Amino acid sequence: MQSLLDQFAAALGKQYVLTDQRDKAPYLTDWRKRYTGKALAVLLPKTTDEVSHIVKLCAASNVAIVPQGGHTGFCGGATPDSSGQQIILNLKRMNQIREIDVANQTITLEAGCILQTIQESAAAQDFLFPLSLGAEGSCMIGGNLATNAGGTNVLRYGNTRDLCLGLEVVTAQGEIWNGMKGLRKDNTGYDLRDLFIGSEGTLGIITAAVMKLYPLPISQWTTLVATKDIASTIALLNLFQKRATSLLTGFEMMTQESLALNEKHFPQMANPLPGHPPLTVLIELSDHESEEHVRKLLETVLEEAFSANLINDAIIASNLSQANAFWQMREHITLAQAEEGANLKHDITIPLSLLDTFIQETDALIRASYPGVRIINFGHLGDGNLHYNIAPPPGSDPNSFNLANEKAIHELVYAQVERCQGSISAEHGVGQLKLDGLRAHKGAVAHDLMKTLKRALDPQNILNPHKVVSI
Ligand SMILES: Cc1cc2nc3c(=O)[nH]c(=O)nc-3n(C[C@H](O)[C@H](O)[C@H](O)COP(=O)(O)OP(=O)(O)OC[C@H]3O[C@@H](n4cnc5c(N)ncnc54)[C@H](O)[C@@H]3O)c2cc1C
Repeated sequence: MQSLLDQFAAALGKQYVLTDQRDKAPYLTDWRKRYTGKALAVLLPKTTDEVSHIVKLCAASNVAIVPQGGHTGFCGGATPDSSGQQIILNLKRMNQIREIDVANQTITLEAGCILQTIQESAAAQDFLFPLSLGAEGSCMIGGNLATNAGGTNVLRYGNTRDLCLGLEVVTAQGEIWNGMKGLRKDNTGYDLRDLFIGSEGTLGIITAAVMKLYPLPISQWTTLVATKDIASTIALLNLFQKRATSLLTGFEMMTQESLALNEKHFPQMANPLPGHPPLTVLIELSDHESEEHVRKLLETVLEEAFSANLINDAIIASNLSQANAFWQMREHITLAQAEEGANLKHDITIPLSLLDTFIQETDALIRASYPGVRIINFGHLGDGNLHYNIAPPPGSDPNSFNLANEKAIHELVYAQVERCQGSISAEHGVGQLKLDGLRAHKGAVAHDLMKTLKRALDPQNILNPHKVVSI
């Protein structure tokens, strides 16, 4: 094996081939600390040609590659297995923004660009790059594309897939596919770009992308409202969709229990709405019209919502820093959960028409079978995306609770998801976490087609094996 490591070092430079255990350690455990693997080496390429060279070396030696970006994924997709024979290919050194094309309203960048840097670079040129999520300070666009990340702006701008116009990909054979045209129309047969987006590093390594930009909104108003239940929250969403149409850019729901956890671990993130309402909804409107226009619209819709008994209370952020504080409160729920200890996450989507039924039935089933558990329920409600997470009863050890109950709780929640025609992964992907559940969820035909694709594109099974599908 030494000769392969020597070849890596010759290709990248010795300092970019990490083999020392201490150097490798930060790349081996996932963000949730659920999976820890071993790796022959962690490789840090700088160019697409270097990625291509490494893949060819790995293919010749039949060594599996785990692509990695910011390593913030929730499904263990970027963590190697325990064999110590796989390599991690971390793309963080490929972090150049190649071009901002003002006329075409696109940004061309390398896969290792950090999401927040992309947002800031776009804003510096008066553009909005709308992808936004809690991990934006460390996740990378290659990882966002590979997981088809969602986040808080999907309602208006779509998922990462909807923001991508072109890709550059290194195939399992080490060939470079240049699909970097920034075209909004291109009907030339199979859409290879869409094949690689969301494939979690199992079909190719994304090295660069052309992404859409949008005009930067000039006015933005954010409000927190208190609602009593899911039915009225969905009616409120529908009211905003009708009255504010495309100005509605955020609609996030947080339960009392999820905000209680926030307040416990981050007291500065306490809910400013009084009385601990059952549900708190963060709503954002943004537009290119004047501040007054958007504010007036927001107030009018809120008044209508009060009159229709859809909301009990509301606070409109008086300035940008208060608006940011509202968003921080929403984003801190995930961090508060991590502080609290291991919990059982379900990142699901349910058609909005069945969401109320899903929550009522599933809550009742969970509480009947697991008395005392906390249901930490929040999500991008505007997209029907619920983070339906179960924390053990207060005082009990999370690890032993999860060990004893994980399988049964997942089965219960996912059976409910199927019953309500939902999806077992809304935005976090499959990785190794949901590998087993995928076949049942997709159905035999879809699952077999996925395996056929994997075999066709990666017959040696060297790209992130045993993630998403096993062949
Ligand atoms: C606090 C917090 C909040 C989050 N909020 C959201 C949210 O709102 N919405 C959401 O969708 N996700 C969210 N996530 C999950 C995570 O941030 C996203 O999945 C993100 O897109 C992962 O990007 P990454 O660069 O960290 O990828 P990684 O975790 O490094 O990798 C994820 C997967 O992509 C593959 N991959 C990475 N780079 C490449 C590449 N260049 N080519 C091919 N494959 C590659 C990996 O092999 C792995 O399978 C959150 C995470 C945290 C920690």
